[in-house]
Amino acid sequence: MAAAAGEGDSVAPETTRVEAASEPQRRVATRQGFSPGHMSLENCAYGIAKALKNPTVRFLKERMEKDGCPMWPGLMRAAFCSSSGGYASNHGVRVCCNHMKTQDQIEQVIIHELIHAYDDCVTKNVDWNNCAHHACSEIRANHLSGNCHFKQELLRGIMKIRGHEPECVKRRALLSVNLNPNCSEKASEDAVKAVWDICYNDTRPFDKAP
Ligand SMILES: [Zn+2]
Repeated sequence: MAAAAGEGDSVAPETTRVEAASEPQRRVATRQGFSPGHMSLENCAYGIAKALKNPTVRFLKERMEKDGCPMWPGLMRAAFCSSSGGYASNHGVRVCCNHMKTQDQIEQVIIHELIHAYDDCVTKNVDWNNCAHHACSEIRANHLSGNCHFKQELLRGIMKIRGHEPECVKRRALLSVNLNPNCSEKASEDAVKAVWDICYNDTRPFDKAP
């Protein structure tokens, strides 16, 4: 389970019913964790709608449409949940509003989760039970969403400058793959290592990491 806002997210495939599937049964708010000063569900839902104007979100939306994977109405939902966000095949993207404080955070979660949606639909044959497949998508999502831009790391209190970005991507990808019940700590590490070069350099649909 992810510890803090922005420091964890999950892919919750319909088939494995990882995070999202267990969430609705676990509606007890106190178990979800709340970040101090988090947004109301209403403001968060408004923020999600507003995020559609973000240039990166718009670009991803266009590319998904072009590749035959249009975003459907209700793809993105405001929720109270245990990480910062999640994605599940056939369920879509969930923004965990109890961990959102700013519009910037909402947009980052959405971009991250849309990369998973993109991989799921455009790449096809993604098997979320497979630690290497999951690791690849997490590397891409953390790399391409700006989750690891210098400013974000500073906000987390991590001051290292040199080589911070790939290290951050690795750390966060590992955290997320670890949430997959099919992937032990060792299996997660091995998977991230095995696919690192290919997936870190796979910046589709961007020419380079935004
Ligand atoms: Zn992710």
